Amino acid sequence: MLTVEDSLEELSALADTAGLEVVGEMTQKLDRIEPSTFIGKGKVEELKTWQSELNFEVALFDDELSPRHQRNLEQVLGDQVRVLDRTALILDIFAQHAHTREGALQVELAQYEYRLPRLTRGWTHLVRQAGGGAGRSGTAGVGLRGPGETQLEVDRRQIRSRIAFLKEQLEDVRQHRQQHRAQRRRAQVPVVSIVGYTNAGKSSLLNALVDTAGAKQTVPVLAEDKLFATLDPTTRRVRLPAGKTALFTDTVGFIQKLPTQLVAAFRATLEEIEEADLLLHVVDLTHPNAVEQAKAVEQTLKDLAISGIPIVVALNKIDRLEPEQREDILAESFPHSVPISALKQLNLDQLLARIEHELYESLLPVQVRLPYRRSDLAALFHDNGRVDEERFVEKAILIQGRLPARYLAIFRPYLIKSD
Ligand code: GDP
Ligand code: MG
Repeated sequence: MLTVEDSLEELSALADTAGLEVVGEMTQKLDRIEPSTFIGKGKVEELKTWQSELNFEVALFDDELSPRHQRNLEQVLGDQVRVLDRTALILDIFAQHAHTREGALQVELAQYEYRLPRLTRGWTHLVRQAGGGAGRSGTAGVGLRGPGETQLEVDRRQIRSRIAFLKEQLEDVRQHRQQHRAQRRRAQVPVVSIVGYTNAGKSSLLNALVDTAGAKQTVPVLAEDKLFATLDPTTRRVRLPAGKTALFTDTVGFIQKLPTQLVAAFRATLEEIEEADLLLHVVDLTHPNAVEQAKAVEQTLKDLAISGIPIVVALNKIDRLEPEQREDILAESFPHSVPISALKQLNLDQLLARIEHELYESLLPVQVRLPYRRSDLAALFHDNGRVDEERFVEKAILIQGRLPARYLAIFRPYLIKSD
């Protein structure tokens, strides 16, 4: 479990990413949440005193606040203070980092869904976008009031219609993407999805792999020491040691307490993960909470019902450790992993060889039921895997045997679950 200190430290890092400067922190141990203000009366007073001394503009809560908590706290703290929780902060960061059309649509939708029950007054973006990066459009605020409607009702109505519009747009984009993916599938190139805690070094690794594998130089993926620098799935072609290629996709970083609402919003990234032939889990070995972070990633994958995809673990940033330190940690917590440094490009060949082995050589047990019109797949099974038993029944061919991970995705619609 994450301690309160660790969790607050992560919240500070998130605040920093959003462009906020942290001027103070306070905690309270509560047996019971105060129904009106979340924190106790005394704490609210303390916060008010702080406000008059420090003049802060944002009060950030690590736990999820109900719309009521938020309203009441804002009332107490006055007009110059916005009260936000972790979810709202993460949404704001997402908004600043979404670069593709789909990413921008997803964030805007999630923001409005979050905002609707909390609407109390005009909503402004946390940090005004320098140079207007993501280019989203908000609600048009003025001049559209119907007879007898308050501004608040107008805002709500507009948000609802905006939500409906965004959902339609997203559906369009998704259908488009599915067509793309189907084409890629037909091209028979295996897909490796890079997953991992935010800031573990996923984007750096993708850049480094593209480098070492001597692929054509493409635009580097944004890697920086900020949480959630990457939002939209980015795909690069990487050459594996024996000459085959694979597509590597970079994904959004996972984080403890990532609200499910947000997980749902990032279906684009998640769909990439679901369809991967292999997951490459990047762990920042030098982070004091490396083990917890790795567990949080595994748990999120479980929550998303992503299972049955082989995983290779890369322990990153070993350039920061002494050799003896590496040995200890590796043996203890992360068996079957490959220690690497994305930054110093250490051990990347070994990592790629391991990935190639998992994709093409290591055989996984499978059972499939193939309709006769897919006898091409039966042939594929014989050519590339090992058939232990094959039965021809009335409407299908049943095969039990072993297949390299690389072929699992093709057979996925016909898999018989064994457990
Ligand atoms: P992501 O959020 O998982 O995509 O992480 P990034 O690739 O953006 O990297 C986060 C930070 O860690 C950046 O400041 C990187 O320079 C740094 N970093 C990544 N890999 C390494 C590494 O192997 N060694 C060291 N020392 N730093 C690294
Ligand atoms: Mg990244």
